[in-house]
Parts: sequence; C-alpha cells; structure tokens
Amino acid sequence: MNKIIELAEENILHTYNRFQIVLDHGKGTRLYDTEGREYLDFFSGIGVYALGHGDKELNDAIKAQVDKLMHCSNLFYNEPAARAAKRLNDLTGMDKVFFTNSGAEAVEGALKAALKYAYLKDGKNDHEIIALDHSFHGRTIGALAVTGKAAYREGYKPFVADVKFGQMNDLKSVTELVNDRTCAVIMETVQGEGGIYPSDKEFIEGIYRLCQESDILLIIDEIQCGLYRTGSVYAWQQYDVKPDIMTTAKALGSGMPIGAFLLNKKVADASLKAGDHGTTYGGNPLATATADKVLELLESRHVLDNVRDLTPYLEEKLDALVRKYDCIEGRRGKGFMQGLVLKDVTPGEIVNKGIEKGILMLTAGVNVLRLLPPLVITKEDIDKMYEILDEVFA
Ligand SMILES: *Cc1c(COP(=O)(O)O)cnc(C)c1O
Repeated sequence: MNKIIELAEENILHTYNRFQIVLDHGKGTRLYDTEGREYLDFFSGIGVYALGHGDKELNDAIKAQVDKLMHCSNLFYNEPAARAAKRLNDLTGMDKVFFTNSGAEAVEGALKAALKYAYLKDGKNDHEIIALDHSFHGRTIGALAVTGKAAYREGYKPFVADVKFGQMNDLKSVTELVNDRTCAVIMETVQGEGGIYPSDKEFIEGIYRLCQESDILLIIDEIQCGLYRTGSVYAWQQYDVKPDIMTTAKALGSGMPIGAFLLNKKVADASLKAGDHGTTYGGNPLATATADKVLELLESRHVLDNVRDLTPYLEEKLDALVRKYDCIEGRRGKGFMQGLVLKDVTPGEIVNKGIEKGILMLTAGVNVLRLLPPLVITKEDIDKMYEILDEVFA
C-alpha cells in the first residue's frame, strides 16, 4: 500500500489530499483496500455508484460493448447513444440530449446553450447569468464561473461569463439581480458539495415563475442530486417546475465516466446548431451502453422504491445521532443525500475516524458530514452505519 501511495505522490499532480488507503475492489455496498480491509460505502465515489459495486448484469453489458465497439466519434450514429438519449428524454420530458464525459463538461454545454439562445434572440454579447452562493458546478473555467465558493474561484478571474450570485432559499436576493441582460439562472435542486442545502418549494417555484415571465432560462444542475437519489427520478420533479436545460452525470454511469445536458424544445430549437458544439469521446458507445443499462436496471429493480422505503429509517437513525451527540447540530437533506451539521469537530476528523472504523463518507461545505450511499443499500447497511457512527462520535 505504501509503495502505491509513494508512486502516486511522485507522479500525480497533488491537487487532492487523499485518504491514506488504496482502494482495490468492491462488492455491493462494500469496498476493500489493498490490505483486505472492508469499508461500508456511504460515499459511492461521490454519488456515482448508484447500483453499488461489481454488479454482474451491468458489468456483463459493459464487457459485451467493449468487445463490439467502444468508440466511433460523433461523426457517425451509434445505437447505444440513441437508446440512452431516448431513456433520458422519457424520464424527464425534455426534448434533446447532448452526451459529455463529465459533469463539468455538461455544465459547460448548458451554459453555452443558454448564452447562444440569448445571443440568437437579441444579437448581443453581454449576457449575464445568475448562480447561487454555496453552489458547485465543476472545476473547468466556465463551470467555475458559476460556482459560488470563493476558495475555488480565486486566481482564475476574470471569467468568460458575467455571473452574479444570489442566496439559496432567498427569492428576493435573486430577483434583485435580474436585469435585461440576464439570460439564465443556474441552480442545484439540492446543493451537494456546498453543504447539502435543499431548495424549498417557494424558492425553486418562485425562480421557475420568474424565469418563465422574463424568458430567462432555468438551468437545473442535477449532477449530484439527480437519478433517484432524493426519492424521484430527478429532484426537480418533486416541485411544480421544469428546467429549460438540465445537467446529469455522476450516477448516470454508475462508475463509467459520462454526463449529459438536456434541452427542452424551446431551447433545442433556438440555440446550439450543427457545428456549434462538439466532443470527441462524449456519447461514445461504451459510455452510453453503460448509461442505457444503468437506467434500465434502476427502473427494473425498483431502486426508487428502495430509496423511498428506506429514507424514513435512514433519517430516523441519523436523527438519533443528532439527539445523542452535542457535536452534531442538526441534519439536512433529502432521500439518500444527507448531511449532519457539526460543531466543535471538523467533518474531516469524522471522515478519518470513519475510515479507521470501516465506513467511507464525505465532507461538504465547512461543517457538514455528507452521506451519499449507493441507492441499493439495505436496512442492515443503515444499521451498520449507525453502529459505526455511534462509535466514531463517541
Ligand atoms: C460533481 C458535480 C459537478 C461536476 O462534475 P464532474 O464530473 O466532477 O466534472 C457539477 N455539478 C454538481 C452539482 C456536482 O455535484
């Protein structure tokens, strides 16, 4: 293990302070390191492993596609991409899909579509975008421009797009920013990385109406909260709203790198045209055959029922910890996207203690312990989580 860590540190750019273990393989809701130690997975590779690890049916579909055709570029049609896009449109009621290799790249495309839509409308090049504090949309320059965390932004200014920041769940703070140059509002339905802040009904529906009234495009980033995690296929579907553009990634490949942005008909008809946007790898048959299978399995295995059935139990167990330990101030979250708000102890300390005791978790914001288990966890997994966290906090 130490040899691998040394080799990595010698050769990989140090942009992460990694945990001092080397993960080797996984099975279901468990991960194993190179020393054979077992970990209960409550982070899913940052919300990726919807179906858990080593799923035979998914892996067989991937292997079959590897032997058939992995890549063909977007200059040709391929069947898996067409099928996966149809599934995404059917699940969302959106009109058109563009496949990407990552979440940030999906956000980039979404921003380009919004800016192009506004440009084709008034011919001007001075449009503004409204984003929210505590938001996270990715690390590329465009996605970073709409990410509301100073530490991530510093050193990369000026950004290409003019972006103003409002506050989550404060409608007035957003309305105040609107002017005739505003072309889009971008938001997560549940902010993940920024600290697990779910948007309340009045806020997201207010934003939706505001956008409708002024032909401002609503971009909903569902890269982390989307795909069944919060108890509906996409989290925005629990409200009386509909995005003009939405992004999805993370769980879409359940381990395979893939993302997408989706457009409604209004935007699809009047934004990016042939030649306006592209990617070499994006939408390749290997990644899209995986997404197609992931979407099929999430549905055929009734994963949504599992999330809905077990959410009250998960929340009950977490609330029991909140009551028991003074250093936990409260709980925020939705479905299988939960955060414990800590005081007098950093989430990093708790995550490290968790690794020692055999559970993998994440941090969010400055004081939040973030839990993003695979969507296929059982009641026993939740009991095990409680047992380990009880020890960790004690
Ligand atoms: C992770 C994330 C992204 C960026 O996705 P990458 O695949 O890391 O580029 C964007 N938006 C949200 C909400 C995310 O959670």
